[in-house]
Amino acid sequence: MNKAHVSLRVTPSIWLEDDEFDQLCISLKKNRGGFDDIAFFSSLVHTPLTLEVLETCNKLLAKRYEQVRELGFKPGINLLSTMGHHEEDIPHTLHDGFTNFTDINGTIARGVFCPNDPKFKNDFLIPMFTMLAKAKPDFIWLDDDIRWSGHHPAGRGCFCEHCLAQFNQKFGEIFTREQLKKAVDTGTIEERLKVRKQILANNGFSLCNLFRLAATTIHDIDPNIEMGAMDAGMRLGDSADYADQAEALSAGSDLPVRWRPGGGAYTEDHMKAFSDKAMSIGCEAAWLPDSVTNIQSEVESFNYQRLRKSEHTTCLEACMYLGAGLTGTAWNILASEADKVQVYHSLLAAVAEVRPFMDLLVSTNKRIRPAGIYGGWNHAWSATTGLPDGNWVGGSWTLGRMPHFQDVFTAGLPPAFRLKDASMTILVDNGAWAFSDDEIKAILSQGLYCDARTLQILNERGFAKYTGFVTSKVVDEDGREFFLDHPFNQGFTGAIRDCRQSFPWGHETAFELVPQDEKCQKLTSLVNFQKETLLDCIMGTFENELGGRIAISGYYPLRDSLYFSKLTQLKRLFNYLSDYKLPAYVESYHRLTIWARDNGVVTLVNASMDDCENGRLTIKTTSTSATFATMDMQTKTIKGTPAPNGYVNFDLPTIKPWHIALINPN
Ligand SMILES: [Zn+2]
Repeated sequence: MNKAHVSLRVTPSIWLEDDEFDQLCISLKKNRGGFDDIAFFSSLVHTPLTLEVLETCNKLLAKRYEQVRELGFKPGINLLSTMGHHEEDIPHTLHDGFTNFTDINGTIARGVFCPNDPKFKNDFLIPMFTMLAKAKPDFIWLDDDIRWSGHHPAGRGCFCEHCLAQFNQKFGEIFTREQLKKAVDTGTIEERLKVRKQILANNGFSLCNLFRLAATTIHDIDPNIEMGAMDAGMRLGDSADYADQAEALSAGSDLPVRWRPGGGAYTEDHMKAFSDKAMSIGCEAAWLPDSVTNIQSEVESFNYQRLRKSEHTTCLEACMYLGAGLTGTAWNILASEADKVQVYHSLLAAVAEVRPFMDLLVSTNKRIRPAGIYGGWNHAWSATTGLPDGNWVGGSWTLGRMPHFQDVFTAGLPPAFRLKDASMTILVDNGAWAFSDDEIKAILSQGLYCDARTLQILNERGFAKYTGFVTSKVVDEDGREFFLDHPFNQGFTGAIRDCRQSFPWGHETAFELVPQDEKCQKLTSLVNFQKETLLDCIMGTFENELGGRIAISGYYPLRDSLYFSKLTQLKRLFNYLSDYKLPAYVESYHRLTIWARDNGVVTLVNASMDDCENGRLTIKTTSTSATFATMDMQTKTIKGTPAPNGYVNFDLPTIKPWHIALINPN
């Protein structure tokens, strides 16, 4: 793996018009080294085209494939709609009596069809896949319409007659839609989780069947066409068994499959969106099997207005995703019908120019997963939302509540996306319910930082002797965190962190933590505005008999943690919890977002509008020198100073605002 996989996605407004296509070819010739693949979008609308319309398009696409082959690129199609995204151009798109995608209330999305409908498979999908393959593309990408939510106006699904029949047959049940809706939110937590996981598994089963149908149909025509799949972000609506999905998409072929973990970050108005997306798609890349090596992010500036993202941000974004574990980029940055290709020429030149750094990131990081602090996502995570009360199917399943999406992970802490890559774990909210007892015990044998809700779940499940604390009194008004005299608070004893319980948005209850063992240590207490103690302990540590190091926070465990005092305390604490095994962290007080590997390689972004000066990065390595490379491929050697616990401190050169660097001590 010595370079990135880079594709350019081309909209129909360009490939349908000879003049526009010629302009694109001029730019491609000038920036030949920037791209490997040219992926032609099948349509403008987000609803499946009729076979008749598709036939006309496909004939022209066959010609376009040859034209870009002559320029030295691999051509293929990005099938925008297999089952359909949502309702668009309904009068002119597919509506031939197929079963629509259906939510748990029976609401349908016109223009979105259930892939389990036999008629839809036989009369549309198979003829469509056959037709597309006959045009001889090098690859066929399926798009993120193959998902189980976001099919407006329907909610989560699919609960059509075919999906319900498959569910009941698969699990030996006789649920109606109404009964299923009730079952996911009633009974014991274990009972609810069981049926929720069955729904996710049913969707996963449907997804694999669709992937297998696409691949076998296409390979029957041309066994050399590579298959690719995109999702809309972490496959929250199904069982997210990526190994099964990749196997289904290969359909027994030896050809590699391509993957494109999705999720929107469409403007530079809010730069943190890019680190959030990096955490999400990096997590998915980590869970994909090793056999999948072509994992492209989608860098998209929907709705493709040239001024939504600067050239610099567009390039930076792609590089951040490569740092988080992806191995390629699909540039989705070209015009729709509003603007001509010429408007995008300088952008195409800019993204081609950053290609050498993209190649360096991929050739260095390969498929080595980021290591450090695990955020608790696993296959069962989607099933745990909305417990113990709440409306599961209709509720929010956003990943935004998870640790890696909190500000603190933009400030020098290394995320890990799987337990096997972690030296400690953070669990919050209902996340603990996503793990079996054996997995919980493994987590409690290592390092764990968690909130009061997690502590309650762990204690309820019989792990109290390993957690060290129980919750007691609560405070909902005017509680502020007071830093007690403790080594982790050195220099900050008496500091107060106030997360403003009086503000209704984001309000969290403060929980008292009562030590159950003499080895428990108190880090902080809760005080009011008069500094009178309200709760003796709201944050503490405990070392259990498994050798695990546990820390509980009963007060805004991750939010509002960018204060120098709190961030320093957390860095000290997390180093301790991990038994000083984090692969790297930022020792200085800077907003540097990092992804670190166990081999000591660190990708680092200055997530601030200030230059980062006097930054200090601490890496677990035996090497006291490292190469420091930036987006413009300026490379220098930096020297390090040995530090305790097998670490080396590297003083960083000045890093410009929102610039990215690769630090390699090997
Ligand atoms: Zn269905």
